[in-house]
Parts: sequence; structure tokens; C-alpha cells
Amino acid sequence: MGRIKILPDAIANKIAAGEVIERPASVVKELLENSLDADADDLRIDIEAGGRKLIRISDNGTGMLRDDALLAFERHATSKLRTADDLFAIATLGFRGEALPSVASVSRLELTTRSREEATGTRIEIAGAKMIRCDEFAREPGTTISIRDLFYNVPARRKFLRSEQTEISHIASLVTHYSLAHADKSFELTHMGQRLLFVTPVESMKERVFQVFGSKILADLIEVPETIHEEFRLSGFVSNPQVQKLNRNSIYLFVNGRLIRDKVLLHALTAAYHNLMPPQSFPFVLIFLDCAPEEIDVNVHPSKTEIRFQNGSLVHNFVRDSIRELLMKSRPASSIPLPQQPQAGVDMPLSEYSQALQSGNFPLPSQPRLVMPVSGDEAAIPLISVNPVSSPTSHPVNTDLSSLSSDLEILEMKTESLVSTSSGVRLPVPDTHGPLPAGEWQVEHPSLDVLRDLRPLGQLQESFIIAAGRDGLWIIDQHVAHERILFEQVLKRRAAGTIEKQQLLMPMVIPLTVGQQIEYARIADELAAVGFETEPFGQRTLAIKAAPAGLNTGEIERVILEILEITEGELRKASVDDLRRGVAASVACRAAIKINMRLDMTKMEWLLAELAKTEFPTSCPHGRPIALRYSMRDILKGFHRI
Ligand code: ADP
Ligand code: MG
Repeated sequence: MGRIKILPDAIANKIAAGEVIERPASVVKELLENSLDADADDLRIDIEAGGRKLIRISDNGTGMLRDDALLAFERHATSKLRTADDLFAIATLGFRGEALPSVASVSRLELTTRSREEATGTRIEIAGAKMIRCDEFAREPGTTISIRDLFYNVPARRKFLRSEQTEISHIASLVTHYSLAHADKSFELTHMGQRLLFVTPVESMKERVFQVFGSKILADLIEVPETIHEEFRLSGFVSNPQVQKLNRNSIYLFVNGRLIRDKVLLHALTAAYHNLMPPQSFPFVLIFLDCAPEEIDVNVHPSKTEIRFQNGSLVHNFVRDSIRELLMKSRPASSIPLPQQPQAGVDMPLSEYSQALQSGNFPLPSQPRLVMPVSGDEAAIPLISVNPVSSPTSHPVNTDLSSLSSDLEILEMKTESLVSTSSGVRLPVPDTHGPLPAGEWQVEHPSLDVLRDLRPLGQLQESFIIAAGRDGLWIIDQHVAHERILFEQVLKRRAAGTIEKQQLLMPMVIPLTVGQQIEYARIADELAAVGFETEPFGQRTLAIKAAPAGLNTGEIERVILEILEITEGELRKASVDDLRRGVAASVACRAAIKINMRLDMTKMEWLLAELAKTEFPTSCPHGRPIALRYSMRDILKGFHRI
């Protein structure tokens, strides 16, 4: 008697659910993808208790015929794939036919659906994979799926669920993602009756970004115009390097409309921002990469969030170069934060919604943060109170800085109405009351091109150059400015083979650790290319005979050790290009004018003129800002002249 048995479907589905359904947000993902595959353009998502109690998704898509609705819960039942060949050219989001049976095996599920081809609809109820009811049901064309008591029969999974707040923020992030990818569709997300997101169809991606994140965010974004390379098309938005995020939550990547986490693309982004942003900080990115379905394999992971590119390095370099070039071209400048604006100068001002998204910290009804008096019982509170804001004094003062900053932001977005919710959280809903006036979200980028006309006025603390410009007052960090100039110079001369060297009178000998010696062997050529003449000198010692011109003798040893250290760490797996830039950054930093160094007028003029000539005068090779601008507008505002 053999020991191997085929598992019953109920168990197989539960196993599949283990992979596909990790948490409530995974259910939302699968159901949203189904609705989008069904051509819906109005999607509504209602959640209770972070998704533990209820997840309901309603759409106005094609709906299902009665027979299909029954079949949909069978394992491997799909309308999206016919032959094995189809698997290599998938144009829909779903294809595995696993989601519905998986979800149905770990929850109590109710489906109502109607196809336009049938006069009445169908209702199906399933609990823990058992069919409880299937009857006729009157409804509009479309589909509604309600999932109650997720994991009620899988205690182990239920235990792993995080707080309601965490789960709802995962869900909100997911719905936000999909709403960004489909600007022409409506999305509405509610939690415990509280509306978190509501966007109606708009024509452009830009308008959708405005709807979701608010106007200020657009000021910090650079639009990626549609760029084509071989089979690939790239478009979207990237933030200028002043926007520095602590995590990757603001990176939104789509390949053929599918939300993905992909190492190749993430690395390409890091490489694009390399030397423009400090390490361990991340940009805001919303990019769409489109290609023929054959170029990618989407059947890599059950939750379909990973893909494999046929030609990963082509995609990587295309994305890196397109974005890097854009960042170079836009050359935006930091502006000095005005005293009334509590949000940090370098961080992106966010609407309350996007702040919550970023921090994963969605306020729950049980944790009121009252900013607006709310009356009546919770259920009876209208979700939208049309309440255009006229003056700052019309609001009770709130001492919480983060909501204060979003108060200010909301005040500036005069066209927006506010949503008052039972928890008192107000979210901008710019969309519900007519179209946006043009220009409202087209914020001008102050460009560092104006650097050319800067007139130095003097030096502050022998460290910062104060300069008058066409458009206001500038403060320039002399060290990082010079660092940027040298960095670009080193790279240019290195490429042209015109690096200048200084021969040392006496070779300098430095001891190396084993690790440093291994690194040295790896990067010796690169050191030679930027002007170092070095050679191993006995056991674990290095002799330096020449160094790049401009480096003080005292700095030479430090540069070498620093380069060895960075290549040992962060740059170990980096590409040749990144290594080259890392080495150049190190040399530039050590050779640059220091702070606390007196400069005369001619030196300052020279420095500003050289800075204006650089390709990217905005930030130093390590990503710090070089110049701050106090615009004429800010000055006039400060003196109450406007
Ligand atoms: P897949 O999406 O991989 O095909 P699912 O289990 O998610 O598998 O769904 C099974 C089938 O049910 C789909 O192929 C589709 O035909 C149908 N279906 C699911 N959700 C919807 C919906 N919201 N509208 C119309 N049809 C749907
Ligand atoms: Mg599906």
C-alpha cells in the first residue's frame, strides 16, 4: 500500500492561501487586480478593523455569468489563460486562478455578481471553502466580494496579524499604488466608515498625483517624459534629490501596470541618485515601465510581486541613465524654509494622508486626534463637510507639529475641501468639487542656472558665501560647492586621461589590514586612474609615490584609507561606474576648500563661476545641499510687503 496520497482540494487551497494571502492587504491586492482585469473603472474598498473583520471590494466591471461564478472558486480556474504558451505573454494582472479559492478557504466569503449578458445576478456564500448558499440576486452589473473573519480557521495566521493600524496602512498603501497606476478610474477606500482616499477619474498622471498627495509634492517632483529604449517605455515622476526619505515606502514601481518590488529596478534608482543623495536615504519615485509581455516573466512568485526581466542589465542601465540625466538637467535649488513652515527644509512636505502612508501610522477611530470639533454620533457624521478654509484663525490651534504643517499645507491649497471624519482627521479631497484650476499645482522650480549671475557679498563664519542673485539671496556652503566642482573635474579628466598628478618627494608607506589589502588589489586600477601611483610594499604595506594634484600631503593617506573603507562596505557590490564615482567623491572631498577658511572676493567669484559650470550644482557628491536660496518672494513676505 503506497504512502503517497493526493491532497484534497480543501487542503491544497489552504496551502496556496499560505503563499498568496499573507495579510489583509494581500486579499485587497488580489481582489483589486481581479476588478481591474474585469475592466472596472469604479472601485470601492471598505475595510473594518484593519481587514480582520471585513474586506469588501465592489466594482462595476464585466461581472461573471452564473456558471463562471461557481467555477471561479475551483482551484486553477481562470478566464485569463488558455494555453501554456499564454504564460509567456501575460497581459492581465491575474493568471494563476488561485486567489478566489485561496481566500475562500480561509474566510467567510460572499460574492454577488452580474454580467451584462444576464438579467439577474448571482449570490454565492462560502465559509472555509464550503459552499453555503448559491442563489439568484438582483444587482447592477459588476461584482462585490465581502471577506469576513479572515483567517478565522487558521489561528496560526491570525496570531501573526499586526495591529489594525499596521494592517490598514498596508492596505492604504496598496490602494494608493493602484490608484496612481490608473488615473482614469475612481477609487474609494474607507476604514470603519471613515473615508481615507477618494479619487475620481482625471486625464493625467500629474493630476492623480495631486489628488493623492497634494499640491506641494508636485513642486518637488520632476516629470519623467515618456522615454523609449529598444522594447522599453519609461514614464512617471521622480523627486529632486533634496527630497530624502528614510525608507522605501515612497517608491512606487509598475511594470506593465503591475505593482512590483524588483531588485534590478531598485538598484537602478539607487544608482541614478548615487552621489546626489546621502546613502541610506531614498527618493520619492513613481515610475511606469512598459514592454511587450514576452520581455518579462511574471510567474516567479505566487503573490506576483516579483518579475524577472529577460535582459535585466539593459533595463537597469536604461532606467538609471534616463533618471540620472533628468536629475542633471533639472538642477533644482533648495529654498530656505520660512520660519512659519515647520516642515523640514529637505523633506518633502506631505499631506496628512501621505504622511500617514509614509509612516504607516494611520490614526484609528479609537485614537482621536481632534483638530476640528465633531458633533453627533459617529455613524451620523457626514463624511465630507464642504468647508473651504478662509483664514488660519478659523481652526482651533493644534500643538502637534506634524498636523500643524499639514494645516498650513491645506490652507495653501485653497481649492480643496476638507474631509472631517469621526476621528477628526482631515484629509484633503481636492477632487470632489470640480476640476483643479490650472496652475495651482504647477509650481516653478527655482533653478541653479541663476548661479551664473550671483554676486558674492561676503562670507559668513568663514564657511558660507553670501551672494545676491537675480531672484533673491543665496547662501553657499564653500566646502561642498568646491567638492562638487572637483568631483566633476576628476570624473571628466579621468575619462579624458588628463588627470594631473603630484610626485611625492619620499614615497609614503601605509600599513593595511588583510581586508584592506584584498580591497586594494580590487581597486588598484581605479586608484591609478585618478592619479595615485601605488604599489604593494612587502607584507600588508602600501607605498604611495604620487597622488592627484590638489591633495595636501596630510590628506593622502586618509583618502586612500577612506576609499578602501567605502569599497569594503557600501560599494563592494557596486558597478564600475559607482566605484569610479565613489573614488572621485572621496578625492574631491579631501581636496576641497574647508569650512572655517577665509576667502577673498576673487576666490569667491571664482568658486561661484566654477559652480555654475558644473552639471549638478545642487548637491555635493555625498548628497548634501550646496546652496540655499531665500527667494525674493520669501523676503517680501517676511517684510509683509506682499
Ligand atoms: P485569476 O485572477 O488568476 O484568473 P482568481 O482566482 O483571482 O484567478 O479569479 C478567478 C476568475 O474569476 C478570474 O479569472 C475571473 O474570470 C473571475 N473573476 C474574479 N474576480 C472578478 C471580478 N471582480 N469581476 C469579474 N470576474 C472576476
Ligand atoms: Mg486574480
